[in-house]
Amino acid sequence: MTIDRDSLQALDREDPLAGFRADFDIPDDLIYLDGNSLGVMPAEVPAKLRRTVQAWRNDLVGAWNNAGWISLPNRIGARIARLIGAHDDEVVCTDSTSVNLFKVAATALQMQPGRQIILTERGNFPTDVYILEGLSELAGPKARLRVVAREQILESIDESVAVLVLTHVHYKTAAMYDMAAVTRAAHEKDVLVVWDLSHSAGAVEVDLNGSDADFAVGCGYKYLNGGPGASAYLFAARRHHQRASQPLSGWLGHRNPFAFVDSYQPAPGVARFLCGAQSVLAMMPLDSGLEIFDRVSMREVRAKSLRMRAILLDLLKRRCTQYGFEFEPDIGATNRGSHVSIMHPESYAICQALIQRRVVGDFRAPDALRLGITPLYLRYVDLWDAVEHLVQVMERREWDTEAAQLRHAVT
Ligand SMILES: *Cc1c(COP(=O)(O)O)cnc(C)c1O
Repeated sequence: MTIDRDSLQALDREDPLAGFRADFDIPDDLIYLDGNSLGVMPAEVPAKLRRTVQAWRNDLVGAWNNAGWISLPNRIGARIARLIGAHDDEVVCTDSTSVNLFKVAATALQMQPGRQIILTERGNFPTDVYILEGLSELAGPKARLRVVAREQILESIDESVAVLVLTHVHYKTAAMYDMAAVTRAAHEKDVLVVWDLSHSAGAVEVDLNGSDADFAVGCGYKYLNGGPGASAYLFAARRHHQRASQPLSGWLGHRNPFAFVDSYQPAPGVARFLCGAQSVLAMMPLDSGLEIFDRVSMREVRAKSLRMRAILLDLLKRRCTQYGFEFEPDIGATNRGSHVSIMHPESYAICQALIQRRVVGDFRAPDALRLGITPLYLRYVDLWDAVEHLVQVMERREWDTEAAQLRHAVT
């Protein structure tokens, strides 16, 4: 089938997920291809936040009990668990991904006495490497960070490695690890594995327990649509709960926070990974986003994502190759997540020119134009229109202006 605008509109008419777009509040004139960076707003959010601030005003401290705020990390964690192949009692919603990574990587390191190496991938999402650098500095002689190329990860797994930290779907290339196979290879050498699911949860099917994963972390404000700075989440396999001792031993991870005793005793389950008072205002919108995912089959989301990805790549290759773009190597469609990166020396300014046309993607240094695919609210026809705008930007050299070249703090 040759793809044209009409055939994509026909796909939208038959799309079983088409109705979910109404669950979000998206400006009419916007083509949003950046839901992998900051998801759109669930339509219920303003009402939910209104109820939350009313509870704050009226009930004040009583709302921790009466509005159930105190159990939000567990209740939202259970909602996320369903999307990542975990049990309800293995996930908590808390803190940021960076902080959670520190907690679980430190925990895993401590569970491996006599082993020093923390292994990760060069070109991993920066915060992951930075956090591991900080952890190994703090741990002194007990830890050493080894950062190797993606192709060398498997051969670098040996008996000196305490913990392997990988991002399941790469933030730039969208390349996706075989979680079960990598975890198995690590376990054969008794290495613990931490998966970062920031570009996975809500985007691809994830089966942590089916893969025998040890720990995982992930982000609330991307595909899960939790809003700017939404709380993140953390997974710890049941078999590790008893032994897991995390270093940020704050009062709300205590077995009995309101006993106010002088010494720390961890809560029995995954709640021991909580630290201080949780950010209620940063969790409520995420809860709204997850209420939508409650009604969704990730299999259907993935099927639409794969189809959209193939269509977008096909359109880009057919219509934009002549402008000097480079495309990802073919590693098999199912080995990538839910965004597409295309490379061009002027990607930053091209992205800005697209934004001026209300087509929002993002730029990742040094040369990637990144286009996210979010099947719950993106229409097939949006792909056609986005590529049409890109062709216009290139034809008219709209990137070659002072406004488009101006660098902003966030890219
Ligand atoms: C987005 C992202 C994060 C975000 O970290 P925060 O501390 O929650 O801002 C972490 N890791 C990866 C791989 C990401 O893509």
